[in-house]
Amino acid sequence: MPELPEVETIKRTLNELIVDKHIDHVTVNLPRIIQRPDDIHAFAMELAGHRITGVERRGKFLRILLDGLVLVSHLRMEGRYGLYSQDDPVEKHTHVIFHFKDGTELRYQDVRQFGTMHLFPAGQDLLEKPLNKLGLEPMDESFTPEMLRDAVGTRSTSIKAALLNQSYVVGIGNIYVDESLFKAGIHPAQPAKSLTDSQFHVLHEAIVSTLGASIQVGGSSIKSFVNGQGKTGGFQHQLQIYGRNAKPCVNCGTLIEKSVVAGRGTHHCPVCQPLH
Ligand SMILES: [Zn+2]
Repeated sequence: MPELPEVETIKRTLNELIVDKHIDHVTVNLPRIIQRPDDIHAFAMELAGHRITGVERRGKFLRILLDGLVLVSHLRMEGRYGLYSQDDPVEKHTHVIFHFKDGTELRYQDVRQFGTMHLFPAGQDLLEKPLNKLGLEPMDESFTPEMLRDAVGTRSTSIKAALLNQSYVVGIGNIYVDESLFKAGIHPAQPAKSLTDSQFHVLHEAIVSTLGASIQVGGSSIKSFVNGQGKTGGFQHQLQIYGRNAKPCVNCGTLIEKSVVAGRGTHHCPVCQPLH
C-alpha cells in the first residue's frame, strides 16, 4: 500500500504533469470508485470544462485542485495514475479517464479496485469525510514533539497502534512505523502513555527524518508501488528493520525479531528496542 512518502512522490509528479490542463470530459468505467457524488454522470458533468490548478496531499489522500472543485483521491492498495496520449491503448484495470483538451489523458488504474474518489466544491473537502477526522500531518513544518505527545501520549494502546491510527497522526503506515521506532530505540509494543518526553522528542525526530529520507528517493517500491511517472522509488534499499526478520541488526548485530503488534507484522531489535 502506498504510504505517505509514496503519495507525496505521486503528488509532486502529478504537479509536474497535469497542472493547467483543461478537462474536456471524464469516463468512468467502474462506478464504485466514485464515492461522491452518488451519480457517476453528475461526477463527470461537474468536472467537464474545469482546469487543474494544483495537486496537494492530506495524509495518504491526494487533493487534486481545480478551479472551483477539489477531487479527493485515495489509491488504497494498488491504485495508480498515469498520463497518456489519447492514442495510447487503454490498459486493463483502467477505471477512470480524465480526457484533457490537449489530447492527453490522466488514467486511473487499480487492479484491486479499492481506491476511492470524492468530488467537492472548493473549500468543503477538509470539512467532510474522508478528510475531516484526520490527525496531525507529520511533514508539516508545524508538527512538533509536543503535538505528537499530546496526540498519542495518553493512549493505553501500544505506541505502534497509536502511530498507525490515522485520527492521531496521518500517513505513517506499517513500514515507516517500524523504521521510526527502530531509529528511536522504542519497542513497538510499549504502551504509548508510558513514553517519556525525551522519547517523544527522539520519536518525533525519527518520524520526520524517516519520512523525509524516503520522500528524497521517491518512496519505497515494496509490492507494486510505481509513482506517477512509472519510476520506482528507492527507499526499500534504505530500510533498516522492516522486512529484515532474523537478519542482524545494523546497530548491534543481534538478530531482528518479527512479531505481531497492533495486528500487523512488526520488526524490532530486542537489544536496541527494549520493552519497558
Ligand atoms: Zn540492535
